[in-house]
Amino acid sequence: MRAAVIADVPVMAAMEGHHSAVPFLLTRGMFGGVPVEIAGGELSDKVGKPVADLHSHPCPEVYLLISPEPGDAAIEVEVEGERFDLESPAVAYIPANALHRFVTRRAKPGSFCLGVLLDPAGDAAAGRDR
Ligand code: ZN
Repeated sequence: MRAAVIADVPVMAAMEGHHSAVPFLLTRGMFGGVPVEIAGGELSDKVGKPVADLHSHPCPEVYLLISPEPGDAAIEVEVEGERFDLESPAVAYIPANALHRFVTRRAKPGSFCLGVLLDPAGDAAAGRDR
């Protein structure tokens, strides 16, 4: 695979447990096939509004919480009934098949939570082929 750029992102795709189509910046089908997918978006209009119900998938996921300045964003992550409070910048690991979701507690414009799906070869990525 040569160096390449895909500019027409995000790719919107349905995902189990999510209330509406999920924006993907990277899918496993891009660039001839990659072992990771990155989904998620800007948080400032999602304070107090979960984007997904509790859900699980057969691959592990890492949440990346990033913002223009440290502390500009905070999310509450629930994993198998356990609660974790994250303040940007922070990362959280969600094991494969664990029930999880997050709720945004505060987010200045330009804050993002990205879900990085590791090795999404299983059902989590079914139906997405680019
Ligand atoms: Zn997930």
